[in-house]
Amino acid sequence: MPQTRVINEVSEKSLTPFRKKLDSPLTKSQINVLQINLGKRCNLACSHCHVEAGPKRTEELTPEICQQLIEVIERFPQIQVVDLTGGAPEMNYGFRPIVEAARKAGKEVIVRSNLTIYFESGFEDLPEYCANHQTRIVASLPCYLQDNVDKMRGSGVYNDSIQALQKLNQLGYGKNPQLIIDLVYNPPVPSNENFSLTPDQVKLEKDYKTYLEEHFGIIFNNLFTITNLPIGRTKFHLEHKQLIKPYLQFLESNFNSSTVEYLMCRNELSIDYLGNIYDCDFNQMENLPGKTRDGEKLTVAKLLETGTLDMIDEIQTAAYCYGCTAGCGSSCGGALI
Ligand code: SF4
Ligand code: SF4
Repeated sequence: MPQTRVINEVSEKSLTPFRKKLDSPLTKSQINVLQINLGKRCNLACSHCHVEAGPKRTEELTPEICQQLIEVIERFPQIQVVDLTGGAPEMNYGFRPIVEAARKAGKEVIVRSNLTIYFESGFEDLPEYCANHQTRIVASLPCYLQDNVDKMRGSGVYNDSIQALQKLNQLGYGKNPQLIIDLVYNPPVPSNENFSLTPDQVKLEKDYKTYLEEHFGIIFNNLFTITNLPIGRTKFHLEHKQLIKPYLQFLESNFNSSTVEYLMCRNELSIDYLGNIYDCDFNQMENLPGKTRDGEKLTVAKLLETGTLDMIDEIQTAAYCYGCTAGCGSSCGGALI
């Protein structure tokens, strides 16, 4: 049995199972977001990475799945947003064909970028490419101070990120309404039992904006605050310090039922590089597949065969879902309420 599953079951024994915390089963609404994880290749290997991505990973989209995804994007007008993640999505096979097909079909395209990829050989044209295709960029910058960023993401990452943001501003990002640049704040992984909720998004956005503009002349649109879910590398760090159970208990004790309506799993499908479908990227990383009302696992090929995106009724949940519902809630688009 894989280690991840053992941990979740053990954790759930001492907690209220997430599904029991809800008044009714967590169900899908109409799907309008496709989040595609193009692969695990990344130029960085951050300590909090839930994907466990890095320069040595080789898993990425195949031409066959890429073609199927393009067909889905073109065939279903209900898809409003195509959200590309990884790894560094820009490094993985299929990035440019999918961006171009989705933009041609009139979809909003989100690129979740670590910004430092712009300095890797062969990727220097990415800022211009993204501006030309009017992709929305959602960029990780886990703090506005250098020390904290370099500690989490590696030495030199802060300076590269600042230069990249300046370049994006020069191209019109943050200024032109068609060129949106959002930043993402991740708290540090807890190292003791003094847990705290993710800081207030509105207040932190103000702090980021003031600091980055005053020191570097950088402007951006929105800040998204994201709670660390105990999966991937975060889970291994917590496990090492025997903090998984107390962290989950802390998250459960801050459960906020008013976040449930806005959970990102409700209107999205998350797709892996093999074409398998999950309710969200976190379930994808924990290998908890989405299931149709007949209990079948879903694939991109199946969506094309049946001609519908809305084949899932009930969302698969686990103990780490408490990370999405604690306090103001958390999602790839930041706080929920
Ligand atoms: S957190 Fe993002 S940038 Fe860092 S290793 Fe993971 S995918 Fe790469
Ligand atoms: S981890 Fe969050 S987004 Fe994923 S299924 Fe659980 S509540 Fe929904």
